[in-house]
Amino acid sequence: MSQDADVIIAGAGIAGATLALSLARAGLKPVLIDPVAFDAQVAPTFDGRASAIAYAAYRQWRALGLADALDPHAQRIEQILVTDGTTPGAAAGGPSPFFLRFDSAEIADRSDGEPLGYLLENRHTRAVLAAAVQAAGIEVLAPARVTKAVFGARSAEVTLADGRTLSAPLAVGAEGRGSVIRAEAGIGAIGWNYSQTGVVATVRMERPHEGVAHEYFLPGGPFAILPLTGDRASLVWTESTARGAALKTARPEIFQAHLERRFGDFLGGLTVEGPVFTYPLSLQLAERFTAPRTALLGDAAHGVHPIAGQGLNLGLKGAAALAEVLVDALRVGEDIGSEVVLERYAAWRRFDTVTLSAGMDAFVRLFSNDNPLLRLARGAGMAAVNRVAPARRFFMHEAGGAVGDLPRLLKGEAL
Ligand SMILES: Cc1cc2nc3c(=O)[nH]c(=O)nc-3n(C[C@H](O)[C@H](O)[C@H](O)COP(=O)(O)OP(=O)(O)OC[C@H]3O[C@@H](n4cnc5c(N)ncnc54)[C@H](O)[C@@H]3O)c2cc1C
Repeated sequence: MSQDADVIIAGAGIAGATLALSLARAGLKPVLIDPVAFDAQVAPTFDGRASAIAYAAYRQWRALGLADALDPHAQRIEQILVTDGTTPGAAAGGPSPFFLRFDSAEIADRSDGEPLGYLLENRHTRAVLAAAVQAAGIEVLAPARVTKAVFGARSAEVTLADGRTLSAPLAVGAEGRGSVIRAEAGIGAIGWNYSQTGVVATVRMERPHEGVAHEYFLPGGPFAILPLTGDRASLVWTESTARGAALKTARPEIFQAHLERRFGDFLGGLTVEGPVFTYPLSLQLAERFTAPRTALLGDAAHGVHPIAGQGLNLGLKGAAALAEVLVDALRVGEDIGSEVVLERYAAWRRFDTVTLSAGMDAFVRLFSNDNPLLRLARGAGMAAVNRVAPARRFFMHEAGGAVGDLPRLLKGEAL
């Protein structure tokens, strides 16, 4: 039977596009489908987020040849300072007795001088991926929406909203939390809303941030100051849904006043650049990552709270693992959409993803809470970890994504 591609990838977000590029570099023929054309994805008003990318995940993009294009936009994270600031303005008062300091210098022996991670604005990452996908000659159907999928014995057949159909040995669902492929494959999802909103804004500071990321735990939830290139920072500010909506529509001077109360003045005056974005926060985990002729990737498989900046990193790790499984299978003449091949991907990613998602969920509940007993417990926990160098290094390697059985791309090797 003639096939339109080796792999149909529904969703050309950062996870889907990275997978497509990895597969194409290794000689497979992927096709990407997305209702949003790449040009619209890179507009400044489309995605205001910046992502903290673990150093191992960044190696994957280097291995795919994206370093020259990404490096100018990548801010090294040299230190992460976590403070349990319980009153607005704690940032200004300096660290509380309960704090955690992670320093890239402490793991330099194992990370080969890499920082703890990199901060990249999503719009730059999307633009670099779009250019690379185009240069690699990958077929992109956009705007086009997957509406239906049928999984047969030899192929997956995907139908688009305009009635076109495509078939391939494998269809990957990388369309985010509302994955059509997941639903069509009969894979359920569990999860819940946090009734919280992530308020995201970019600010320019008067003083340099020196590559330090700050996370403060305020009563409404975490407030993160993530360093960007050029004395700027991306803020991820968690609030209740109602307060988040009010902040998004607040007049600029009101937003500025709320911002300054939380941020403090330790980096001088602040200027908000560009629009304020809000994102509803929830947990969503697919019951399985594969089904006959299909695999789920990125937020379609696991959507987590951004509290520790792990969502996209999980998706990138998944893309590296899936690409490796498929390329290795092809090299020994296996059917890349067969259950035995897909089970290798599911087994590789299942444990890591479920433990991390559960850990993030517990973390959110612990740190979005102003109960004095919980505050005391978490403060003591932070102080304890901070005193023990191996514990600090453990968390740094976990955050760097460089633990466990790493796919070759995450070691910086070609496929
Ligand atoms: C406030 C905030 C801050 C965050 N910060 C970080 C961070 O610092 N570090 C980190 O690692 N993660 C972070 N995350 C998580 C990260 O943003 C997500 O995990 C990531 O964007 C998911 O990428 P994805 O490609 O899997 O899915 P998405 O970005 O959701 O992309 C899905 C794509 O599929 C397309 N699509 C939808 N429906 C269809 C269809 N029917 N057919 C075809 N295509 C379709 C969409 O148009 C879209 O392009 C953060 C999240 C939030 C909300």
